[in-house]
Amino acid sequence: MAGESYEEAIARLTKLLSEKAELGGVAAAKIKQLTEELETDGSKPFNPDERIRTGFVHFKAEKFEKNPDLYGELAKGQSPKFMVFACSDSRVCPSHILDFQPGEAFVVRNIANMVPPFDKTKYSGAGAAIEYAVLHLKGYSKGYAIQVENIVVIGHSCCGGIKGLMSIPDDGTTASEFIENWVQICNPAKSKVKVEASSLSFSEQCTNCEKEAVNVSLGNLLTYPFVRDGLVKKTLSLKGAHYDFVNGTFELWDLNFKLLPPVSV
Ligand SMILES: [Zn+2]
Repeated sequence: MAGESYEEAIARLTKLLSEKAELGGVAAAKIKQLTEELETDGSKPFNPDERIRTGFVHFKAEKFEKNPDLYGELAKGQSPKFMVFACSDSRVCPSHILDFQPGEAFVVRNIANMVPPFDKTKYSGAGAAIEYAVLHLKGYSKGYAIQVENIVVIGHSCCGGIKGLMSIPDDGTTASEFIENWVQICNPAKSKVKVEASSLSFSEQCTNCEKEAVNVSLGNLLTYPFVRDGLVKKTLSLKGAHYDFVNGTFELWDLNFKLLPPVSV
């Protein structure tokens, strides 16, 4: 708080800790960190090892040791109800923005949260994750089967991957080793936006493409036989979403593909 004296700051911290003793561990870790910074006159370089250790100490004291029932159950196995595709962007961690607890969501993160189509020769990383989530992540609780029931693809605002896709020139010239090849998975979204939203600014087109790319990914999920099977049996649903971290909003939509049973001949 601006203008607060050292004594006032300490008094406020002491009062807080007398009311919320559970914050003691976190406060001690932060005070230690602050003391170390002051000892080195604030010039201490960032120490990644220390940051990782401090993070784990905080997690263990505040989460792991305070929820023995949850972590005891998770030690036996996992049966999340959600599979989530999210971007690798450091600002869009689904566990943070949707408050997923450990064990709730099986997460794949990649550039621009894309789901590639079924292809055993190229996208085996994504394919393995989907296969594992849909076919193998099954558990039982109180006599009921629990399994992944929802696959959610979450796009986001200001996505660099989508901007990269929208920036690839019409002649298809690329300059990167991997990125542009990867994001072209959602070329159909780019084409749709270029046709339907040509009057919009480039940044607005990118926003549209962030959402259309989610729909392309949902369509690509249908190319996996075990996903189609789950939709036909109604054990699985597909959802699209867009998280806007500029305005702090979250859109969620269902994809209601009209799936017909296989035609028998
Ligand atoms: Zn992104």
